[in-house]
Amino acid sequence: MIGVINDKCDFCGTCVAVCPFDAIDLYEARIAINQRCTDCMLCVWICPVETLALIDEQGKMTPRAAAEFTA
Ligand code: SF4
Ligand code: SF4
Repeated sequence: MIGVINDKCDFCGTCVAVCPFDAIDLYEARIAINQRCTDCMLCVWICPVETLALIDEQGKMTPRAAAEFTA
């Protein structure tokens, strides 16, 4: 699953715009990942302030620095 790992999000909407599966909802002061997410990591890779990470079932985080997104 994709999670928000810090409070740096400025709600720029970039992740919402690039998500191929319409899996991110942007609210006034919050983003939420919905069930359409496939864990492709594009949003993790593209977030300019490194707010998102892939979090596996054991709670291990893969942030942008370690993301291996391949289009
Ligand atoms: S791209 Fe990053 S900063 Fe912009 S809305 Fe998404 S999570 Fe927030
Ligand atoms: S990991 Fe991929 S499918 Fe999931 S919210 Fe991010 S861009 Fe969308």
